[in-house]
Amino acid sequence: MKFEKNATIKGAFIPRSALALSGFSEDEAAALHVLPGAIVLLKKRMTAMDLLGAMDSLSKLSTDLTTELFKFCGPCDDCQGDGCPYEDVDGPIDLPDYLREAAGIPKDAKLCADVDEDEKSVTIYAAGHQHDLSDVPEGLRPLLESLGICLAQLEEALISGEVVCDG
Ligand SMILES: [Zn+2]
Repeated sequence: MKFEKNATIKGAFIPRSALALSGFSEDEAAALHVLPGAIVLLKKRMTAMDLLGAMDSLSKLSTDLTTELFKFCGPCDDCQGDGCPYEDVDGPIDLPDYLREAAGIPKDAKLCADVDEDEKSVTIYAAGHQHDLSDVPEGLRPLLESLGICLAQLEEALISGEVVCDG
């Protein structure tokens, strides 16, 4: 259940009714879990039943988020032949700091490489995007693959940085 859909994170507060629905008492000691992409408020002291309830809720939330991603990307209609699967994802390209600096490439910029087999040369340059399939967390790859989510669409969304879930 969601509240305050249009609230910004700054100054966020939790309505009394939300606390009641979550099973928090007003003077409950809470533990704020600050995670990449999520801030989760849990009871500080939990019974086994409290813990099971929290595990179940977080698991359902994760499923809901997966559904949002699937709705956006859609099922894969066999784009595997066009270089969509993770097999095409190699590790990040490394470039020593002094070469980055000399080329004026920011430290955190993702790198691309073009290979010229005839010249036996490699041209390394800053990518125009911040994220791509190589940024999909390792632990999520088997799930996304087993769901048959279109990885080509996912990569497009990662590269464009567009909003894929609103609300
Ligand atoms: Zn596909």
